[in-house]
Amino acid sequence: MFDEVKGFGVTIRRLARPTLTTEYPEVKRPMAPRFRGLPSLRADPETGEALCVACGLCARICPTSCLEMHVVASQEGDRELGEFILRSGRCMFCGLCAQVCPVDAITMSQEYELSVTDRDGLIYTKTELATIGGQLANWWESGVGPENQQTNAPSDYDRFREGALK
Ligand code: SF4
Ligand code: SF4
Repeated sequence: MFDEVKGFGVTIRRLARPTLTTEYPEVKRPMAPRFRGLPSLRADPETGEALCVACGLCARICPTSCLEMHVVASQEGDRELGEFILRSGRCMFCGLCAQVCPVDAITMSQEYELSVTDRDGLIYTKTELATIGGQLANWWESGVGPENQQTNAPSDYDRFREGALK
Protein backbone atom coordinates (compact mmCIF):
# COMPACT_ATOMS: atom_id res chain seq x y z
CA MET A 1 0.00 0.00 0.00
CA PHE A 2 2.81 2.40 0.94
CA ASP A 3 4.56 1.70 -2.37
CA GLU A 4 1.45 2.69 -4.34
CA VAL A 5 1.17 5.98 -2.45
CA LYS A 6 4.85 6.62 -3.09
CA GLY A 7 4.32 5.95 -6.80
CA PHE A 8 1.42 8.41 -6.98
CA GLY A 9 3.56 10.97 -5.18
CA VAL A 10 6.17 10.72 -7.92
CA THR A 11 3.47 11.13 -10.59
CA ILE A 12 1.99 14.20 -8.93
CA ARG A 13 5.39 15.82 -8.48
CA ARG A 14 6.23 15.23 -12.18
CA LEU A 15 2.89 16.77 -13.28
CA ALA A 16 3.96 20.15 -11.96
CA ARG A 17 7.28 20.15 -13.85
CA PRO A 18 7.81 21.41 -17.42
CA THR A 19 7.65 18.84 -20.20
CA LEU A 20 11.01 17.50 -21.36
CA THR A 21 9.85 15.78 -24.54
CA THR A 22 11.97 16.52 -27.62
CA GLU A 23 10.01 15.97 -30.81
CA TYR A 24 12.66 14.08 -32.71
CA PRO A 25 13.33 14.09 -35.67
CA GLU A 26 11.86 17.59 -36.16
CA VAL A 27 13.80 18.83 -33.14
CA LYS A 28 17.23 17.45 -32.37
CA ARG A 29 19.06 17.74 -29.10
CA PRO A 30 22.39 19.58 -29.35
CA MET A 31 25.21 17.08 -29.31
CA ALA A 32 28.22 17.37 -27.05
CA PRO A 33 31.04 19.03 -29.01
CA ARG A 34 33.23 15.94 -28.75
CA PHE A 35 30.50 13.47 -29.65
CA ARG A 36 31.99 10.85 -31.95
CA GLY A 37 29.70 10.20 -34.89
CA LEU A 38 30.59 8.85 -38.32
CA PRO A 39 34.24 9.41 -39.30
CA SER A 40 34.40 11.85 -42.20
CA LEU A 41 36.98 13.48 -44.45
CA ARG A 42 37.95 17.13 -44.38
CA ALA A 43 38.94 19.23 -47.36
CA ASP A 44 40.84 22.47 -47.76
CA PRO A 45 38.10 25.14 -47.52
CA GLU A 46 39.82 27.30 -50.16
CA THR A 47 40.65 24.75 -52.83
CA GLY A 48 38.14 22.01 -51.98
CA GLU A 49 40.99 19.48 -52.26
CA ALA A 50 40.92 16.57 -49.82
CA LEU A 51 43.50 17.00 -47.06
CA CYS A 52 44.28 13.29 -47.03
CA VAL A 53 47.80 12.47 -48.16
CA ALA A 54 47.09 8.73 -48.41
CA CYS A 55 49.63 7.76 -45.77
CA GLY A 56 47.49 4.84 -44.61
CA LEU A 57 47.99 5.42 -40.87
CA CYS A 58 44.26 5.53 -40.12
CA ALA A 59 43.68 2.22 -41.86
CA ARG A 60 46.56 0.65 -39.94
CA ILE A 61 45.41 1.77 -36.53
CA CYS A 62 41.72 1.00 -37.10
CA PRO A 63 40.90 -1.88 -34.70
CA THR A 64 38.13 -3.23 -36.92
CA SER A 65 39.82 -2.78 -40.32
CA CYS A 66 36.89 -0.84 -41.68
CA LEU A 67 38.93 1.74 -43.60
CA GLU A 68 40.27 1.06 -47.06
CA MET A 69 42.12 3.40 -49.38
CA HIS A 70 43.27 3.19 -52.95
CA VAL A 71 46.41 5.12 -53.76
CA VAL A 72 47.06 6.31 -57.32
CA ALA A 73 49.99 8.07 -58.98
CA SER A 74 49.60 11.84 -59.11
CA GLN A 75 50.45 13.98 -62.14
CA GLU A 76 53.62 15.14 -60.37
CA GLY A 77 54.81 11.54 -60.14
CA ASP A 78 53.96 11.36 -56.45
CA ARG A 79 51.13 9.39 -54.86
CA GLU A 80 47.67 10.65 -54.03
CA LEU A 81 44.37 9.36 -52.74
CA GLY A 82 42.22 7.60 -55.31
CA GLU A 83 39.30 6.24 -53.33
CA PHE A 84 38.61 6.10 -49.61
CA ILE A 85 36.09 3.58 -48.28
CA LEU A 86 34.55 3.40 -44.82
CA ARG A 87 32.56 0.28 -43.94
CA SER A 88 30.49 1.85 -41.21
CA GLY A 89 28.86 -1.42 -40.17
CA ARG A 90 32.19 -2.42 -38.63
CA CYS A 91 33.14 1.00 -37.24
CA MET A 92 33.01 1.28 -33.44
CA PHE A 93 33.45 5.08 -33.40
CA CYS A 94 36.58 4.91 -31.28
CA GLY A 95 38.15 7.97 -32.95
CA LEU A 96 41.62 6.43 -33.26
CA CYS A 97 41.73 7.15 -36.99
CA ALA A 98 41.14 10.86 -36.33
CA GLN A 99 43.72 10.99 -33.57
CA VAL A 100 46.47 9.39 -35.60
CA CYS A 101 46.01 11.37 -38.82
CA PRO A 102 49.06 13.65 -39.27
CA VAL A 103 47.19 16.27 -41.31
CA ASP A 104 43.77 16.26 -39.59
CA ALA A 105 42.19 14.94 -42.77
CA ILE A 106 39.84 12.51 -41.04
CA THR A 107 37.61 13.70 -38.22
CA MET A 108 34.71 12.41 -36.19
CA SER A 109 31.51 14.07 -37.38
CA GLN A 110 28.32 14.51 -35.36
CA GLU A 111 26.39 12.34 -37.81
CA TYR A 112 24.43 9.64 -35.99
CA GLU A 113 21.43 8.99 -38.22
CA LEU A 114 23.02 6.03 -39.92
CA SER A 115 20.28 3.44 -40.26
CA VAL A 116 19.88 1.96 -43.73
CA THR A 117 17.71 -0.71 -45.30
CA ASP A 118 20.45 -2.61 -47.13
CA ARG A 119 24.08 -3.43 -46.45
CA ASP A 120 25.39 -1.40 -49.37
CA GLY A 121 24.21 1.70 -47.54
CA LEU A 122 26.79 1.03 -44.83
CA ILE A 123 29.63 1.67 -47.27
CA TYR A 124 30.70 5.33 -47.59
CA THR A 125 32.92 6.59 -50.40
CA LYS A 126 35.39 9.48 -50.43
CA THR A 127 32.84 11.90 -51.87
CA GLU A 128 30.21 11.04 -49.30
CA LEU A 129 32.66 11.29 -46.41
CA ALA A 130 33.95 14.62 -47.72
CA THR A 131 30.39 15.99 -47.92
CA ILE A 132 29.79 15.11 -44.27
CA GLY A 133 33.19 16.38 -43.13
CA GLY A 134 33.03 19.60 -45.13
CA GLN A 135 31.35 21.68 -42.44
CA LEU A 136 33.33 20.46 -39.43
CA ALA A 137 35.99 21.88 -37.19
CA ASN A 138 38.61 19.53 -35.77
CA TRP A 139 36.75 17.42 -33.25
CA TRP A 140 39.24 17.79 -30.42
CA GLU A 141 39.54 21.55 -30.82
CA SER A 142 35.78 21.97 -30.62
CA GLY A 143 35.68 20.09 -27.34
CA VAL A 144 38.25 21.97 -25.29
CA GLY A 145 36.97 24.91 -23.30
CA PRO A 146 34.67 25.91 -20.45
CA GLU A 147 31.59 25.81 -22.66
CA ASN A 148 31.96 22.07 -23.10
CA GLN A 149 29.92 20.36 -20.43
CA GLN A 150 30.73 16.76 -21.20
CA THR A 151 34.50 16.65 -21.50
CA ASN A 152 35.65 19.95 -20.14
CA ALA A 153 39.09 18.87 -19.07
CA PRO A 154 41.69 18.57 -21.83
CA SER A 155 42.50 14.97 -22.62
CA ASP A 156 46.00 13.47 -22.75
CA TYR A 157 45.83 13.97 -26.49
CA ASP A 158 45.00 17.67 -26.09
CA ARG A 159 48.02 18.10 -23.84
CA PHE A 160 50.19 16.18 -26.28
CA ARG A 161 48.95 18.34 -29.13
CA GLU A 162 49.47 21.60 -27.28
CA GLY A 163 53.02 20.53 -26.41
CA ALA A 164 53.72 19.50 -29.98
CA LEU A 165 52.51 22.82 -31.36
CA LYS A 166 54.68 24.99 -29.08
S1 SF4 B 1 36.43 5.35 -35.52
FE1 SF4 B 1 37.71 3.59 -34.91
S2 SF4 B 1 36.67 1.81 -35.80
FE2 SF4 B 1 35.83 3.63 -36.83
S3 SF4 B 1 37.10 3.91 -38.66
FE3 SF4 B 1 38.05 5.13 -37.05
S4 SF4 B 1 39.61 3.78 -36.12
FE4 SF4 B 1 38.20 2.48 -37.30
S1 SF4 C 1 42.98 10.27 -43.53
FE1 SF4 C 1 44.91 10.95 -42.54
S2 SF4 C 1 45.80 9.07 -41.63
FE2 SF4 C 1 44.24 8.42 -43.12
S3 SF4 C 1 45.38 8.08 -45.02
FE3 SF4 C 1 44.59 10.19 -45.09
S4 SF4 C 1 46.26 11.44 -44.26
FE4 SF4 C 1 46.72 9.33 -43.68
